[in-house]
This record gives sequence, structure tokens and C-alpha cells, in this order.
Amino acid sequence: MPVIETMPDARGHFGPYGGMFVPETLMSALEDLTAEYERAKGDAAFQKELAELLRDFAGRPTPLYFAERLTNELGGARVYLKREDLLHTGAHKINNALGQILLARRMGKKRIIAETGAGQHGVATATVAARFGCECIIYMGAVDMERQALNVARMRFLGAKVVTVTAGQATLKEAINEAMRDWVTNVRTTHYILGSALGSHPYPMMVRDFHRVIGVEARRQILEREERLPDVLIACVGGGSNAIGLFHPFLKDDDVRMIGVEAGGEGIRSGRHAARFQGGKLGVLQGTRTFVLTNDDGQIELTHSVSAGLDYAAIGPEHSYLRDSGRVEYDYATDNEALSAFRRLAEIEGIIPALETAHAIAQVMKTAPTLAHDDIIIANCSGRGDKDVSQAATHFGF
Ligand SMILES: *Cc1c(COP(=O)(O)O)cnc(C)c1O
Repeated sequence: MPVIETMPDARGHFGPYGGMFVPETLMSALEDLTAEYERAKGDAAFQKELAELLRDFAGRPTPLYFAERLTNELGGARVYLKREDLLHTGAHKINNALGQILLARRMGKKRIIAETGAGQHGVATATVAARFGCECIIYMGAVDMERQALNVARMRFLGAKVVTVTAGQATLKEAINEAMRDWVTNVRTTHYILGSALGSHPYPMMVRDFHRVIGVEARRQILEREERLPDVLIACVGGGSNAIGLFHPFLKDDDVRMIGVEAGGEGIRSGRHAARFQGGKLGVLQGTRTFVLTNDDGQIELTHSVSAGLDYAAIGPEHSYLRDSGRVEYDYATDNEALSAFRRLAEIEGIIPALETAHAIAQVMKTAPTLAHDDIIIANCSGRGDKDVSQAATHFGF
């Protein structure tokens, strides 16, 4: 096994990936953010306040749940679910939003902006902005606003202004473009709470660090429960924040396999999926160098996924590095596989997962039967499916 670097270099490179590809006007803001983050990391008062908010406001630690009926049905490995779906606001996103709002406050920035795809990050950001009395503007694609109407209403109740983005495909990529445009204009007063392990340094590292609590807890919980480490970790990968949060604390444990699951959409043909490692190329998108879905002219390819939160043309740079090194395997689940998993987990475990999460569950259904009865899988149940119920109901004709 090659040596795996667990920290990027000073400019945010994970091997050949990552870095800072931003307009000149943002460079000093990103440098300030990096410096403030480094100070906060070493500040016991910051860490204590964040830990208390994660516990009392967000609901950590989340349980590690043994999915007994799923395990029996699949007839292979013992399946555990890390229940990020039980967090306040319904997904892992709140871990990062809380960390970043504390940083914004340290930097004296009272205006908060964010992008959102499925709306989970927008809701998490609007929530922490309300909690800390900040102005909040969320950029969201028109297509996503339609498929995630519930989350749009939640953001508005939380006091956020939701700005409709109609450019291009009117999904996550365009929402990020608008948020970056806003940031360039208002950088002195504004902090941009980016929602995944994406974009320019320091975001991929910082967002990952705020989600490492997932893996740190899972590690302690499985050692208590089974007195050994898991054999396989599984998580869905949009930008890659819930996956890297679970994986990172296990990277040095050579015997722990890890599988990241991308969105296979309607199958791997151009424009109908969002699996960057199935035909993506090295490119630069929205601040970072990583695997990007592009066409033969180098233009960003159209993407598609049933799940708005996985529907993005680039993957977080650390995942590109971990894939190259062979440390993490990447596979994909199609829309239909995810929808079946969504329904099956609801029926046999009483847990309705987010459609994003359902991609990870689909992978569990493929992997568990190939393993021995005493093997252990931990899958990240990254979010709950309330937001997706009406979309799934339409699909299944309920
Ligand atoms: C946003 C979201 C994802 C995808 O984002 P990552 O950064 O890849 O984790 C996955 N699951 C849920 C529930 C989400 O809300």
C-alpha cells in the first residue's frame, strides 16, 4: 500500500489535485480564511464551543445502528448505518455549517451566502445564520427549486433569501457560479459557507475536517460494539464531504476497504450521469483541479442524477487523490438502483433515506452478499428522505 498523505500542502494540493484557482479579488479572502481556520483549529475555546453546538444544537453523537433485517436479507456482512440522518435539519451538512459560522463570526463577517443543490446545505446554512443572527442569502438553481420545494420553504421560514438561478442547466454548478460572483462583489462583509469538500483551498480541507467527527465517532462506536474495526466503509459521493468525513479517520488502517459511490444516473453515457470517475478528465472547475465531466471540446458536460445533491460535474480533489493512490475504490449506482434502495430501506428498516444516501445503500446491497457473515460494513446514512418523498412517490405512482 503506498503512503497516503492525509493533509494537503500549504496551497491545498492533494498530489496533483486541489489548489486555488480563483479570481485575484478572492485570493486575500481565501488567505485570511486559511489563516483564521488554522488559528481556530488550535484554539481550545473554539473547539469547545463547536463541540457543544454539535452536541446540544445538532444532536451529536449520532448513533451507529445495526441494520439487522437488512443484514439478514442480504445474507452476508453485518451492516451498520451511521445515522447522520438523525441530525438537526436532516443531514450531515450541519456539521460543516456550524464550523463555518463560528469562523465567520471570528472574522467579523455578518453576511452569509451559500449555494445549494438538494437544499440540504441551504437549510443547514439558513439554520446556523438564524441561530447567530446573520443575514443569509442562498443561491439555488431553478430546476432544483422545483424538485426540492420543501427545502425552499424551510429556508424562507428560517429567514434566508433564496435567489433563483436560471442560467445554464439551472442546478448546482450555476448556483455556485452565482454565489462566487456575489462573494467577489461583497467579500469584505461576507463569508461564503461552501457546502462540500470542493472549491478552492482551504475549503476541501476545512469542510473535511468539520465532517471528520463522523468517522471519529464511528470508529469509537464500532470498537465498543464489535471490538474491532470494520472491513468496509461505504458512502455516497457528490462533492464528497460525507464520504471523506467517514473515511478520513480510517485512511491509515490498511485493512479497512472504502467505497465511494457516485451517481450513475440513467447509465454511463454522455450527459445522463454524474459519475466523474466514469469518463471524467483532469480539469479545473470552480476553484479546484480535479476530475471533471467534460465533452470533447473541453466544455463542462451536462450531468444528470435523480438526486439533486449528487448532480455535479466535479468531485472533491481529495477523492481524486485517493482514487489515484488506490486507497479508496469508487463505484456508482444508477437512478433506478437508488430508487429501489430508497424503497427497500424504508420497508425493511423503517428508515427513509435521502436519495443521495440511497446510492450508498444500493452499494451496500451489492457488496454485503459478497462478504462473510462476520465481516462488517459501515455505511454512512448521510441524510433523511423527507425532502425526496414527493419525488419518489411520483416515480412509484403512490
Ligand atoms: C448534500 C448531500 C450529499 C452529497 O454531498 P457530499 O458533499 O458528497 O456529502 C449526500 N447526502 C446527503 C443527505 C446530502 O444532503
